This record gives sequence, structure tokens and C-alpha cells, in this order.
Amino acid sequence: MPLGSVYFSDEHEAFRNEVRRFVLRHVTPHARAWETAGRIPREVFVRMGELGFLGITAPESYGGSGADLFFAVAFLEELPRSTMGGFCAAVSVQQFMATPHILRAGSEELKRRYVVPSIEGRRVGALAVTEPDTGSDVASIRTSAVREGDAWVINGAKTFITNGAEGDFYTVAVRTGEAGAAGISLVVVDAGTPGVRVASRLAKLGWHSSDTAEIVFENASVPADRLIGEENSGFYQLMQSFALERLCAAAIAVGSADVVLDETLRHLAERHAFGRPLGRFQALRHRLADLAAELEAARQLAYHTAWLLGRGHAATRESAMAKLVCTELGKRVADECLQFFGGYGYMEEYPIARFYRDARGATITAGTSEIMREIIARVLIDDWTPPLEEEARPAAQAEPTEPVAVLVEATEARRGPRTVEALMTSLPERLHSDRSRGVRAVFHCTVRGADAPQWTVRLNDGSCHVGRGHEGRPDCRIEMNEETFLGLQTGELNPQAALLSGKIKVSDLTLLMRFVRAFSGSG
Ligand SMILES: Cc1cc2nc3c(=O)[nH]c(=O)nc-3n(C[C@H](O)[C@H](O)[C@H](O)COP(=O)(O)OP(=O)(O)OC[C@H]3O[C@@H](n4cnc5c(N)ncnc54)[C@H](O)[C@@H]3O)c2cc1C
Repeated sequence: MPLGSVYFSDEHEAFRNEVRRFVLRHVTPHARAWETAGRIPREVFVRMGELGFLGITAPESYGGSGADLFFAVAFLEELPRSTMGGFCAAVSVQQFMATPHILRAGSEELKRRYVVPSIEGRRVGALAVTEPDTGSDVASIRTSAVREGDAWVINGAKTFITNGAEGDFYTVAVRTGEAGAAGISLVVVDAGTPGVRVASRLAKLGWHSSDTAEIVFENASVPADRLIGEENSGFYQLMQSFALERLCAAAIAVGSADVVLDETLRHLAERHAFGRPLGRFQALRHRLADLAAELEAARQLAYHTAWLLGRGHAATRESAMAKLVCTELGKRVADECLQFFGGYGYMEEYPIARFYRDARGATITAGTSEIMREIIARVLIDDWTPPLEEEARPAAQAEPTEPVAVLVEATEARRGPRTVEALMTSLPERLHSDRSRGVRAVFHCTVRGADAPQWTVRLNDGSCHVGRGHEGRPDCRIEMNEETFLGLQTGELNPQAALLSGKIKVSDLTLLMRFVRAFSGSG
């Protein structure tokens, strides 16, 4: 851990120490037993709940601590002191993947029934998205939920589900509508519901202490009120949590690499060869120095991501970069350090063997490294536009032209006759009143870079009023740049892609979807 940090206060560090003490005293000594058993005892969740470790950022009204994201980062970095990737997975899924959707979009009843006992450690949750036929391509899931009276009837299968066999409930992604992202919903399903079956506990390369299961749904009927948020908003809800999930994976990878480096330093000091401690050999020293330097850089990227997220930024690019860099480095640190242990590194007796195989899982879960690269590439390459001065620069053989005129022409050519002002003021006539029936909401729109950047749109049960500036209290704040706004309004830009690449900042996704639907050309 570096000396001092702009991100962590004394309170953060005190909390970090408390977590570290708990893990070292009550978890690490049991690593071998829990890895063999393939489960984390329930008492551990309860104890963590009592200590306030399972609702770090959750609101106090549901038993959480309402703390900032850096408390969560400190917590996640300390979990690997357990020397079990499986423990890190089970606990982080419980707190940061199974329940955030319920907290954000679920009904009060769902929050009381699932979030409160999860924070107390009395109930353990899982997030069930991946299916035997689809993982990275979330929009293609097939597990269906069909509304029958007051119930959803679910059929399908989920696989690789952490806490799947031991958990009490699952936040399940189901298809309730059309093919693709727009037809997915999230539903909470209790384990043990008739028709819900743990088909198998999967044997894995690593993460042995966490259970990973395949779950089958056969006409499983769950009450209709178990739907989280609005029907068919599931993909967008999942997307809202992607950045947090990636940050979790990054912080755990950094914490794991810290432990591996510590263990390696101890070994290099204690083990002798050719009459000297291993730590005196330059070949090893320099490799360790490289790894430590890279780890420091990766750590700071993770912290920067947390800082952005804490300020309400989408941090799509940064969270994908942090996940990619930290987990890939975690894999390399474990691999290279194992080598420094010689034959002992290959023995189960030394935790380095466990870190080595556990690190392998981190570049696959919570979005693979290839998907992270794809997201970064999309933001970096596909969204690249030449700086305006460059656009204005005349081509080599072209007639010399007045630069300002070229600039105006280039901008006009790109925009066509469309302007934010024209599109905003035309909203009332473009409203599909049938699709906006029942929607009563005030939207504060901020279009960065536009001549008039602030607008208020009021939807009132089939009618629409647009005004300049921000008026009244908003139900939803939408912020994007001018180009994104024009692209969305003209249909040249897909809202899903824009959200995924972090081009739109929005305070309420469900309301944004209603907004888009009210004005879009089709369905
Ligand atoms: C230990 C463990 C625990 C897990 N826990 C959970 C859980 O709790 N809940 C849950 O829902 N899921 C969980 N998963 C599933 C995990 O999220 C998926 O394995 C992961 O998203 C990849 O999906 P997939 O396995 O179907 O691989 P695929 O999507 O089939 O990908 C196969 C390969 O193709 C690459 N690939 C796919 N698409 C592209 C593309 N567009 N460009 C380039 N390369 C691409 C992938 O990167 C990968 O290398 C867990 C997995 C593991 C191993």
C-alpha cells in the first residue's frame, strides 16, 4: 500500500484495518477447510453483516452505512487477505451484484424482503444472467418469463452462477419481451421455489470456496411483484451496474496482487540459494520491481475510476480499462511470483498456488478481457471524430479556402439542417401521445456544446411542453453532448450503444426509456 493517498481519509484507513483484522482472524485460518468444503459458512455472512461490512454504500434506511465508494474499494482490496478468490467472489456478489438492482429500481417491498436481510447477512443472494448458450452477449439470453395472472412463469437455465447452490435468492435476467436488449427484465426468485432446481454444482479450476451452480427453471411461478423496476428495462438496469462490477473486479485483483507481492517478498528474504537470500539476485529483483510499478499504476487507475463513479460519471471507458488492466496484471503477478517460489510455489501448502489459479477466473467473470477491449475500442476508435481544426484543414490538393468558411461547411455538412433548438422545439409535434399516456414527468435536459444547452421537457399524460432552461424539480436529468443528442433524435445513433459507451448520463434509466419511446419513430 503506498504512503498516503488523495482518495483515502483516516476514516477509510481505519475501516480498511478493521476489515483486514477480521479477515486475517476469522477467515484466512479456515482457507483450506472452506476450499475443500466448497462453501463459505453462513455464520461468516452474519458476522460480516453485524460488523456493517455488507451494506457499505447502501442507504442507512435499509441497514446500510451510506458510505462513499472508497470504503467499498478498501473493503474489496482487503478481501484477498483471505487467500481465497472464492471468498472474494461470494462476498462481492452478495453485496455488489445481487442486490444493487433491487436497491436502485425495486419496490419498497422487495427492498425490505431481500436487501435488508442481505445487508444483515441473513440471506445470501446471487445474480443469474449467464446461460449455457450465452454469456458475453447478454442481450441474447433466452430464459423466458411469461405473465400468467398474478405470476411470472419462468423457463430456462442459468449457468456459472456464484452463490447459486448455497444462496437464498437469485436476481434473474429473463426475457419478457421482444428479442434483443429491449425485451429483458429482472425478477427476484427465491431458491427452493417449486420448479427451480440446482442442476449441478460445477467443479472449477479455482475459486473453490465459492459455489458455482447451474440452475434450471421449469415452469417456476413467482409472484408478479418480484419484477425489479419496469418490465423490459432489465438490460438497462444491468448496464447501470456494469461499471461497479468492473470496479469490484479491479479492486479485488489489486488486493490479490498486493498479497502475492507481500508473500513473495517474505519468501525472497527467507529463502537462500548460492549462499544468499533470493532477494539479492538482480534477475528477480528487477522483475519484482517491474510488477510493483505496474501494480501501482493499475491501482491508481482503479482509484480514478472509483472517484469518477462516486461523482456520478458513467466511467464506461475507465471502468473497462481498470477491469482489463488490473485483472490481466493480477494474472501475470501470480504467474511470475509463483516462479520465484520454485517448487514450493507449485505446492498446495503455499497460498501462491491458489492465487495462481484463482487469478485466472478474474479475466473471464464480470465481462471478459476481450469484451473490455471491445468497449474501450468502441469509445476510442468508433467514437473518434477529428478535432474541428483538423476538419477545417484543407485537403492537400484542394483549392485553398478560407478556414472559417470550411469550418462552418464541415459542421453543417455533418449536422445537416438539424439543430438542438429545432429538434427540441419540435418535440410537442413529434410526440406519440398514445405512447406517452400515463407518463407524468419533468426532464431536465443538458446538451453540452449546444447554443442553448438547457431545456425542460414536461410529459403529462399524452401531452408535452418544452421550455428553455431548467425549470422546477426534475424527475429525470439527462446529459449528453450535442452530437449524441442529434444522433439519437435523428435515429443515426442507437440509444443502447450510446448508453453502453457512456455517452449519455442519466439519473433515471426507466424514465429515459419512456422519453425515447414517446418520441421515437417506431414501437
Ligand atoms: C467462476 C465463475 C463465476 C461466474 N459467476 C457468474 C455469476 O455469478 N452470474 C452470472 O450471470 N455469470 C457468472 N459467470 C459467467 C461469466 O460472466 C461468463 O463466463 C462471461 O461473461 C463469459 O461468457 P461465456 O462464458 O459465455 O463466454 P462467451 O461469451 O461464449 O465467450 C467465449 C470467448 O469469446 C470471447 N468473445 C465473446 N464475444 C466477443 C466479442 N464480441 N469480441 C471478442 N471476443 C469475444 C470471450 O471474451 C471469450 O474469450 C461466472 C463465470 C465463472 C467462470
